Amino acid sequence: MITGDAAYIKKINRSLILEKIIEKGMISRADISKATALTRATVSAQVADLLDEDLIIETQLEHNSVGRKPIMLSLNAKAGYALGIDVEYGQISFTLSDLLGNPVCEKTVECTKLDYKSILQLLIEQINSFTDEFADNRYGIIGVVIAVHGLVGKDEKIHFVPRFQWGSVDLKNDLEKACQLKVHIENNANMSAFAERVFHHHETNSLLCATIYTGIGLGMIMDNEFFRGNDGFAGEIGHMIVVPRGRPCTCGNEGCWEQYASEIVFLENIMVEKNLSSYTYEDLRKSIAEGDQDILERLDNYIYYLSIGLNNMINMYNPDTIILDGEILRLYEGSIEKIEEHLTSTISHYRHLSISSFGKKSVTMGACAFAIKHFLGVPMLNLQYVDDEKTYEKNNQN
Ligand SMILES: [Zn+2]
Repeated sequence: MITGDAAYIKKINRSLILEKIIEKGMISRADISKATALTRATVSAQVADLLDEDLIIETQLEHNSVGRKPIMLSLNAKAGYALGIDVEYGQISFTLSDLLGNPVCEKTVECTKLDYKSILQLLIEQINSFTDEFADNRYGIIGVVIAVHGLVGKDEKIHFVPRFQWGSVDLKNDLEKACQLKVHIENNANMSAFAERVFHHHETNSLLCATIYTGIGLGMIMDNEFFRGNDGFAGEIGHMIVVPRGRPCTCGNEGCWEQYASEIVFLENIMVEKNLSSYTYEDLRKSIAEGDQDILERLDNYIYYLSIGLNNMINMYNPDTIILDGEILRLYEGSIEKIEEHLTSTISHYRHLSISSFGKKSVTMGACAFAIKHFLGVPMLNLQYVDDEKTYEKNNQN
């Protein structure tokens, strides 16, 4: 027999009810009871608490037919804000969302200094200015999630950020002390994976998301939990060796996957080998449009190496859904089909392979969603992604 104290059971019931309200968007008390197998009395008591806390709102549906108009419950998106931050090399991106993950404010700050103290100071200033500006509802900022492009332990301490050369730092503790907010630290690839799971792929129970812009990182969500490994460092897939005695890598090994399949290396190689002062995504877009044969051959070679790593990942994890978060694949039409042509092993099994539909925003969107998940205390979130540019257009047409 499973037993538990009353407070614990109450907490579990609350999270079940909240999760159902978020998943359905709008649902009646009776339907919550049906969907969760909780008694109507339990549902009513919990719903009363959630209403008191302003976390949910009631809406009376308009009916044409005779009979009682059902009262529907939905999450009160306006009760608070989540703040997601992506600490990248050279710039820090911020997304502030409502409690349904809809972006309310976005901002990018250039940052030339790389030392910990300078970036900590910048983060404190920015977070405090968001806190002051967005205090117009009951909870204000409910939590901050910061994604770093490096190793984050299970204790949320940062162990190593290669491009910043940060060793062990406790950013969570430093920020919580300075900003009086709940702060979580996560790896960027985990946050991209989380955005894909929460906003797009509700049905999957095993999702891999590889971010391929600078290095290659892998976020893994299995049965609604991150797969983190023993220390929390799992997913450093860019350092899987795909070419014995190959190109030297910053990690000290040779032939690492990211030396062949990360976008930054692809663009840098073109710049160096063609003696150019720079070669950007925009240059690549032009080269593709002009049908530049050399560039097209390089792209096919790039896709071949990308496929080698993917083949290994698929065989290791047997994922349902694989998302590639990068820009080059988006620019090169038919890239997913080309990758699939390489993934023909009779052993490899996956169901779905696609390019992230967020673009670079996936990290901060995932970070906002992760802050919301923590605040509401639910095991998983199923939210709808509303493209804010489209919303903007729509609002301006009305
Ligand atoms: Zn390496």
